[in-house]
Amino acid sequence: MIPFLNLLPTYEASRSAIDAALLRVAASGWYLLGDELRAFEADYAAACGASHCAGLANGLDALQLALKALGVGPGDEVIVPSNTYIATWLAVSLCGATPVPVEPDPATYNLDPARIEAAITPRTRVLLPVHLYGQPADMDAVNAIAAKHGLAVLDDCAQAHAASYKGRPVGSLARISAWSFYPGKNLGAMGDGGATTTSDAALDDRVRMLRNYGSRVKYQNELKGINSRLDEIQAAILAVKLRDLKRATAERRSIAARFLAGLRDLPLGLPHVPDWVNPCWHLFVVRHADRDAFQRRLTERGIGTLIHYPVPPHRQPAYADMRLAEGTFPIAEAMHREVLSLPLWPGMTNAHVETVIDAVRACA
Ligand SMILES: *Cc1c(COP(=O)(O)O)cnc(C)c1O
Repeated sequence: MIPFLNLLPTYEASRSAIDAALLRVAASGWYLLGDELRAFEADYAAACGASHCAGLANGLDALQLALKALGVGPGDEVIVPSNTYIATWLAVSLCGATPVPVEPDPATYNLDPARIEAAITPRTRVLLPVHLYGQPADMDAVNAIAAKHGLAVLDDCAQAHAASYKGRPVGSLARISAWSFYPGKNLGAMGDGGATTTSDAALDDRVRMLRNYGSRVKYQNELKGINSRLDEIQAAILAVKLRDLKRATAERRSIAARFLAGLRDLPLGLPHVPDWVNPCWHLFVVRHADRDAFQRRLTERGIGTLIHYPVPPHRQPAYADMRLAEGTFPIAEAMHREVLSLPLWPGMTNAHVETVIDAVRACA
């Protein structure tokens, strides 16, 4: 049996430091907005090549507060990928704004810059690309379109910790970037967590107020904020795991390279990696024309897989009000019918990798 994901090896790699951090916070008597958070924020901003990081309760809040800090509200439109995880759209909706889907490049699965301008209207405020599966979107092209039309860029980095684009780290590529530290992400907490990174001090200041009831000084509320703080225990855990992130990412890259070499010449769509990106391989996603049968055969051989994602946001009941019928976004719809994510996690042994390759070769 090879599970789709096993988080224990990453814990074991830093076990004594994580355990010490847990006990240190417990004994400190201070559990929110303290030294652990400040230390992690400084480390994470530096890792992202940004000057500021604000720790938040989860990735959905990070997206929502980044949009609010950019001034997005009712009546505004935000351009989002048609094929993302629904949280990207929900963040826009939570601001009272409208997500405007744009189809991906079918080769990279990321927002297709050539399709963006047709979706821009006088109400468009923000372009919101997602670095899906850990592969950076074409940010130079996205930023050029934003500059031409006077729009802001927020990137959804929830799947892209330690990935880079043309040698620049993800987290430094947009006006503001939103992160998730959900346990299954490449940098994962032991619970929920999120953050924004930016080099715009005013935007960072707004996110910090919004995460704490719109307040900079206790009992002075300048904005209608929410409560969304990365707690001291999660910040302390993340600071330890951040020190291991380069090693863990290198392991993911070596597993992905072995998959790419071992799965050629099959009736299977493999990830396409342009030479200007260095993905962090949050997911290794293949495509199969008869995906559900392919997944069943792998399950029977003990290989855990998942589908990211089975239903595109515009076909979810939550977005029925947008009346976007089947066929509106054919590239996203075909992806959702055909994609399958293989097991890829730090700590997989050579034998695990070989077993997955052999099983895929037999089942494809
Ligand atoms: C995980 C994820 C989110 C949401 O993050 P949470 O911390 O789970 O709220 C948003 N966008 C993408 C692309 C994600 O993968």
